Amino acid sequence: MECRPGCAACCIVISISSPIPGMPRGKPAGIPCIHLTADYRCGLFGRPERPAVCSSLPPSLEMCGQSNEEAFAILTALEQATKPGDPAS
Ligand code: SF4
Ligand code: SF4
Repeated sequence: MECRPGCAACCIVISISSPIPGMPRGKPAGIPCIHLTADYRCGLFGRPERPAVCSSLPPSLEMCGQSNEEAFAILTALEQATKPGDPAS
């Protein structure tokens, strides 16, 4: 499938641990990437400084669902399921 323009769920919901230009420690979950444009596109698209993790994340029905709302819900669940556990628990 193609990425849905204006979705940006994966640029907001999930954490990115690798450095992003201007975000040297990556991106926390739930925080929009600073390269997300006002119309929810990647400001680094096609540029060499775009993180490899972004370029190599293919859109898929499993991740993106059939609507932007579904993508946000799927990725929120995925982020919750994969975040490091609380060492105190
Ligand atoms: S979740 Fe999928 S459709 Fe939405 S921006 Fe990311 S790749 Fe594109
Ligand atoms: S660099 Fe682009 S694709 Fe990667 S998280 Fe930021 S806006 Fe999204």
